Amino acid sequence: MKIGFIGLGIMGKPMSKNLVKAGYDLVVYDFNQAALDELAELGAKAAYNTKEVAEECSVIITMLPNSPHVRAVALGENGIIEAAKSGSILIDMSSIDPTESKAIGASLLEKGIRMMDAPVSGGEPKAIDGTLSVMVGGNREDFDAYYGMLMTMAGSVTYVGELGAGNIAKLANQIVVALNISAVAEALIFAQKAGANPERVYEAIRGGLAGSTVMDAKAPLMLARKFDPGFRIELHIKDLNNAINAAQSVSSPVPMTIQAMGILQNLKEDGFEKDDHGAIVKYYEKLANTILRK
Ligand code: NAD
Repeated sequence: MKIGFIGLGIMGKPMSKNLVKAGYDLVVYDFNQAALDELAELGAKAAYNTKEVAEECSVIITMLPNSPHVRAVALGENGIIEAAKSGSILIDMSSIDPTESKAIGASLLEKGIRMMDAPVSGGEPKAIDGTLSVMVGGNREDFDAYYGMLMTMAGSVTYVGELGAGNIAKLANQIVVALNISAVAEALIFAQKAGANPERVYEAIRGGLAGSTVMDAKAPLMLARKFDPGFRIELHIKDLNNAINAAQSVSSPVPMTIQAMGILQNLKEDGFEKDDHGAIVKYYEKLANTILRK
């Protein structure tokens, strides 16, 4: 199977490398020449633009920052819609607004090009290990047909529903993660201000009902004051913005998400947008006039 892969950033580069290692024939494209060269060294073909990818491949994966980038690659000048043959499929693995997934998919379908949305959770380490969690929206038959290929990049690939459902699941994931990190930061700063050692509090509560994957991933990093990404605050702002827009479009209340968005935007104002989202603790440190210490 010849696969096109567009977007070789933090996530797309290791994901495409895993496809090449699994024996797939890849045609890749990104603005970043260094990333293209790296993939070419492994045996992928580096294309000049999206058009060349779409002319050569009937299966095209995108791993781009946000909705406008996916719209440009899919529907813009020299985009997939201009060059791909009828019967081709776009598998968009970016995290974007599900309303946009549906709109882009509907436009592509007018030219006989199908689309699945298949965003991922797990971050760069799991992209490198090939153990991402992939959540998929689209036709069930397409899911079944491409399940094995997606599993070469993943530890799990789950069918959620029609096109857009993958990104609905991803936004639900991002809401839970943002609120959970905020709760962990709020609790550890409280514990310290109240006179307990926050590291011992973490050890005491992590095995009980309060414990979570997020707590175990982020509390040790907060306590060690390690804020290199990981998942950047600016990307989480993008995801919560998509979540709030999508929720408002279906009249679903998201008061806690709006609070978390305020925290992230405040951190951006303070210049921390490139930090890992564990830096949410810095917001509490500023308000509480303290620094979290082990
Ligand atoms: P990134 O910014 O590192 O990579 C995006 C890549 O897309 C860049 O290399 C850029 O040059 C390329 N690009 C942008 N527009 C393009 C175009 N028109 N044509 C060709 N290439 C183009 O982003 P990332 O961290 O790899 O994230 C990609 C997506 O995955 C985002 O939606 C993000 O929210 C999601 N995601 C990221 C993580 C993470 O931990 N970084 C985890 C899960 C999901």
